[in-house]
Amino acid sequence: MSVMRLPMRTEADFVVIGGGVVGLSVAHGLLNRGQSVICIDGTDSDFRASRGNFGLVWVQGKGIKAPHYAAWSQKAVREYPDFVAELSEETGIEVSLQQTGGYEYFTDADAMAERVSQFRTLKKRLGGDYPFEVLSADDIRAAEPMVGGETVGATFYPHDGHINPLQLLQALADSCIRKGLAHYLGERLTSVTLNGEGFHLTTEKGLSVRSARVVLCAGLGAKVLGPKFGFRGLVRPQRGQVLVTEKMPPLLNRPSVTIRQVNEGAIQIGDSKEEVGFNDNETQAQMARIAGNAIKVMPKLARLRLVRSWGALRVMSPDGLPIYQQSRKMPGAFLVTCHSGITLAATHSRNLSRWLTRASDAPDLGDFTEDRFDA
Ligand SMILES: Cc1cc2nc3c(=O)[nH]c(=O)nc-3n(C[C@H](O)[C@H](O)[C@H](O)COP(=O)(O)OP(=O)(O)OC[C@H]3O[C@@H](n4cnc5c(N)ncnc54)[C@H](O)[C@@H]3O)c2cc1C
Repeated sequence: MSVMRLPMRTEADFVVIGGGVVGLSVAHGLLNRGQSVICIDGTDSDFRASRGNFGLVWVQGKGIKAPHYAAWSQKAVREYPDFVAELSEETGIEVSLQQTGGYEYFTDADAMAERVSQFRTLKKRLGGDYPFEVLSADDIRAAEPMVGGETVGATFYPHDGHINPLQLLQALADSCIRKGLAHYLGERLTSVTLNGEGFHLTTEKGLSVRSARVVLCAGLGAKVLGPKFGFRGLVRPQRGQVLVTEKMPPLLNRPSVTIRQVNEGAIQIGDSKEEVGFNDNETQAQMARIAGNAIKVMPKLARLRLVRSWGALRVMSPDGLPIYQQSRKMPGAFLVTCHSGITLAATHSRNLSRWLTRASDAPDLGDFTEDRFDA
């Protein structure tokens, strides 16, 4: 007997463009709030930060000059444990969250002193709510036996952690589909029109969908798609390269901003910010620099074999902070883009969805609009 498959919906309360971690977190929140959602996601030839990132759930160092962003990141990480517990319970997918704090290591005493001073200022600006600690060289060596070499100390933030970002993506997609998401894969949006009936969106292959509200979460795709909705298309790529060692038994107790041991045992090292346009290749020069810096902090890493590496492009706004904007030219269209989409996943699901649905308890996101770039 053949099973009849119902066609997927082509009209919904919201259409989300882009099915990376940002689009799926937003879709997840909207579905939880009872909205019907279509997600149109592009092709494997697109740049996809959600599949090439470092997997940190991280506050430390963010929003040094923008306390509202530090506070937004803090809110996100505080909501993370509940958020992933719900996801895992619902989908049966374990996302390997470890959130028992994380470090930034220093091999230069002046750089460490400057960082500590920045954190103290930020803490004041946040009314004291920035619970970082400063660890001496002895403290950090005691906490992490792999640390040695030139390390002069570390900062520690107790709510930092890491996750398996691919498992997170899978769990989000699975959860959204269980909640009724119409998920179109391999479909690139090319044409947008707005009339009295709402948005009419058409893809390269001819799929056509309608909705009164659209959320553009297309990562670097927003550069081209943004202006079609009246946004400025301000995102730019920034390359990061990541090295992966052979799998090891547990060696590291907690992640740092550049070195972490993943749930499967490999040690992952990432430490480059390169302005090279739309080029996600790896380079030997950067890989050597990244490995060299890691060995200065953990000399024993030199004994491990590197088995893999990749380059991936971050989705950066001009100041590195998220952009949350409703279009003035085409009301009903929203732009959601950020670096740190893994960290912000919980708050994108739980709080951004309140803003998108104009809930009475929606967060005030006025500081995150495109208007800040007017000057
Ligand atoms: C090297 C590196 C390390 C990082 N480390 C961390 C970290 O440790 N912690 C953290 O929180 N964040 C980290 N990030 C950032 C994080 O990965 C990104 O913020 C996040 O993945 C962005 O997700 P996104 O959904 O906006 O974009 P993407 O993952 O790029 O997804 C965009 C989607 O839009 C689709 N799309 C594009 N154009 C179209 C179109 N025309 N029609 C339909 N669909 C379209 C694409 O196919 C794609 O699936 C890192 C990023 C990089 C590159």
